Amino acid sequence: MNRILASVTTLEQHIDAVNTHPDIYRPLRCPHCEAGRLWGHGCYYRKADRRAVAPQASHNPVPILRYLCPTCKHTCSRLPACIAPRRWFDWAMQTLVLLLILAGSSVRHCSQCSERARSTVRRWRDWLNDRGNTFTFWLQSRFPELGRHPDQPSLWRDVLQNMTLMQAMACCDAHMDVP
Ligand SMILES: [Zn+2]
Repeated sequence: MNRILASVTTLEQHIDAVNTHPDIYRPLRCPHCEAGRLWGHGCYYRKADRRAVAPQASHNPVPILRYLCPTCKHTCSRLPACIAPRRWFDWAMQTLVLLLILAGSSVRHCSQCSERARSTVRRWRDWLNDRGNTFTFWLQSRFPELGRHPDQPSLWRDVLQNMTLMQAMACCDAHMDVP
């Protein structure tokens, strides 16, 4: 889908890009009708800064540039890799929970360690179960050194030791709708 801009990995880089070279976010084609030449269409805001800092030190609200397709009139936008699409918690928290699950922890234990609701832990576990094969197909085609593993958990431990979940999902995003 190319919805994630893999090169932008921090909110500081994102805000700088929005202010100084916003065109890196302009999609080449409309994701709905594939027409080119999208128009800038203002921005919307997300509460993407999850750090526990004073409000004045926070980057919130974080602007996300929006584009309008003059052909089909849909709007679309691309996100920096540091903002996880359609998720409230950030990639780092999700990685922690997934590593615990992959190590064999129970949902209850993961929930206690991460202070996330059990329903959230279950959702992330199911997300990896449902889409893990497709994700690893794209990851292995891009990073052949990931190769040979006896099972998915062992492969995912390898993935998460060698790259961040953010990088892995930015790679998959080039081929599929990640969330
Ligand atoms: Zn369109």
